[in-house]
Amino acid sequence: MIRKKVLVTGGAGFVGSHLIDRLLKEGNEVICVDNYFTGQKQNIVHLMDNPFFEYIRHDITMPFFVEVDEIYNLACPASPVHYQHNPIKTVKTSVSGAINMLGLAKRINAKILQASTSEVYGDPQVHPQREDYWGHVNPIGTRSCYDEGKRVAETLFFNYHWQNKVRIKVARIFNTYGTRMHPNDGRVVSNFIMQALLGNDITIYGDGSQSRSFQYIDDLVEGLIRLMNTREDFTGPVNIGNPNEFTIGELAKKVIEMTETTSKIIYNDLPSDDPLQRQPDITLAKKELNWEPSIQLEEGLEKTIDYFKQIIT
Ligand code: NAD
Ligand code: UDP
Repeated sequence: MIRKKVLVTGGAGFVGSHLIDRLLKEGNEVICVDNYFTGQKQNIVHLMDNPFFEYIRHDITMPFFVEVDEIYNLACPASPVHYQHNPIKTVKTSVSGAINMLGLAKRINAKILQASTSEVYGDPQVHPQREDYWGHVNPIGTRSCYDEGKRVAETLFFNYHWQNKVRIKVARIFNTYGTRMHPNDGRVVSNFIMQALLGNDITIYGDGSQSRSFQYIDDLVEGLIRLMNTREDFTGPVNIGNPNEFTIGELAKKVIEMTETTSKIIYNDLPSDDPLQRQPDITLAKKELNWEPSIQLEEGLEKTIDYFKQIIT
């Protein structure tokens, strides 16, 4: 077994902390860089005694130098509530952060993976979304700091690849949920479960007919690792998501049933530019990564509900 040195930015976050667990389990050394904007110490506290794990508090909008073999660039707030809190900072994290991490990858000849997003498709007019769809994004809307920041990051990744021969992998991640999501991060799965467990109203934005395709965290981690290990000339972008699509109304019903809550549904205004539908076409991931998700919504929700039950008791 070859022990690789791996840098994970955003490693104290929801996705990053699960990815680090997996990388360590496979016998690698991991350096986690995070500024704790939306990440939590709680997510990585169990790793603090592991000699192959190192945490560095650092903001990736500033340059950073370290010797590693691989970089997973995950640092960026992902929940609309968080990324809209300081939109300028969100753009800087995606854009300056990508420049800093790509500069590092170039200097040390590391392979680098970007956590891009289904948001590059915006409010899609093509359904389901394939990687060759260019998207439908409002450049000056409330979500644009995230969507356009991630689109520029993809542009930077490909230009560093073409111009400087940096070895890149770009994952377009679709809505992911699971244990270690921040209970107050405002995303729909964590909101609904917390509301249900606390007996509060379940807040559907709009009429609940908008759809999302929800992927469980373990499937995403598997997909990211496989993508990093794809053949040398495969860069992506590649969709990583679960194609099983649900309306937000259906999700609310499921959470209510599974938690046996007495909470009532209330309907609030739909935020501006909220995409109406989203479903990944994963043909490319199946072919190049030999990957498809294996955990369906009910099983994933069960694990996530159990997790939130533990943290509120
Ligand atoms: P998260 O908010 O839980 O984690 C993001 C982490 O990045 C946090 O620990 C945060 O403190 C850190 N961070 C933010 N700005 C930083 C900066 N400037 N410098 C250093 N660290 C910084 O979100 P997540 O769900 O774990 O998302 C991880 C990545 O995956 C993000 O890049 C996100 O855009 C992408 N993604 C996630 C989803 C999803 O559904 N979870 C979907 C698509 C893409
Ligand atoms: N949503 C909702 N109630 C909530 C939180 C979100 O109805 O309490 C809706 C939101 O308007 C969107 C969908 O659920 O249509 C997914 O929202 P989330 O913030 O999880 O992710 P994104 O919009 O980035 O896909």
